[in-house]
Amino acid sequence: MNALPRVTIRRERVAVVQARHPWLRARSLVDGPSDGGLACGQVVDVFDERERWLARGLINPHSELRVRLYSWRRDQELDATFWRDRIDQAIARRRPLGLNGPQSCSRLVFSEADRLSGLIVDRYGPYLVVQLSAAALVPRLDELIGPLHSHFRPDGIVICWDERTAELEGLAPPPAEVRGEAPPDELIVEDSGLQWGVDLMSGQKTGLYLDQRENRLAAAKYLSGAKVLDVCSYVGGFALTAAAAGAQSVLGVDSSAKALVGAAANAIRNGLHSQCTWEQADCFELLDGLRVESQMFDAVILDPPRFAGSRATVETALRAYERLNVAALRVLRPGGLLVTCSCSGRVTRSDFLNMLVAAARRGERDLIVLQHRGAALDHPTLLSCPETDYLKCLIAEAA
Ligand code: SAH
Repeated sequence: MNALPRVTIRRERVAVVQARHPWLRARSLVDGPSDGGLACGQVVDVFDERERWLARGLINPHSELRVRLYSWRRDQELDATFWRDRIDQAIARRRPLGLNGPQSCSRLVFSEADRLSGLIVDRYGPYLVVQLSAAALVPRLDELIGPLHSHFRPDGIVICWDERTAELEGLAPPPAEVRGEAPPDELIVEDSGLQWGVDLMSGQKTGLYLDQRENRLAAAKYLSGAKVLDVCSYVGGFALTAAAAGAQSVLGVDSSAKALVGAAANAIRNGLHSQCTWEQADCFELLDGLRVESQMFDAVILDPPRFAGSRATVETALRAYERLNVAALRVLRPGGLLVTCSCSGRVTRSDFLNMLVAAARRGERDLIVLQHRGAALDHPTLLSCPETDYLKCLIAEAA
């Protein structure tokens, strides 16, 4: 192997690299031209100041997240075989889950958790969606897509960027691109025994929130005969799973009119529309309004968007989560069910629990926890990268 360009990291950051966290920030590098002039996506070797080899990764000179690390083995080249092996491994680790029906949908590759920082791949029936968050992977797109083709022979592959991450990576958000056949505006897929319409080109996330699959089913088990409020419903994930499990009535709320059009269509598609009502509203205003009207529910589901995007915003996010949970408790009958989630990677499990302790105190309720949950099994977590354990979901009885 020819000598690769190198970057040198500060003494105090060596332990983080050795702990196998895959992100190296620009400020962790020793000042100077060590990464000057390198092209985005160039393979680099990471050394400490004593010239010890530590790891290998890809550099993006335009991003604060300067190097993404992929290997801690010096004899490991980051070539086409390497990327194919990592993708094969990601697919193999999900095989036992059996999420392989022709119309089913599941996550195949989950970025850091599958040791492929910057790459998400989801399957929706005969289509794949590749969501990139690393500009350094762009020059390798063909090497990444090749193995996906051989495994799935998809009708089409949508390649897209999350707008915010594209900006952080120094790119103007490139429009979604399709290889092969373009998906229909509304593709019908199957998940948890229900049919869902999904817009792969401009829906939220890659189309559906696949990470909540098992939490919806877990919550639904408690909801037969219940009057349910699903706050932040998107296209009706929790609401319709509860309705299918026999909930008496479900009010699904979201701030997005487009999401609710999808939810209403999904309700009809599954013959659940007589149990469901949809309302466009801000979650905080809605809960305050219901309280003023003295409306009470047997269950409230809270699945808000990511309130904390960066470390600096964690405190503000926790205050917003607390306010939301207190408001939910106030419309929940004694003994009712609270299903409460947070998908902010920066909010740890203990932050989340502490926030709930405070919410219960303010709401003057005892929370009896029935289940501590995380993301669905096709979303593994990498122990050395706590951010991959991003989804918290607690099912509790509010006595
Ligand atoms: N529960 C859904 C996923 C929810 S994602 C499922 O199981 O599929 C979060 C949702 O919150 C998004 O649909 C977004 O449109 C909505 N949202 C964002 N801000 C909101 C607000 N202030 N009030 C209500 N909904 C909001």
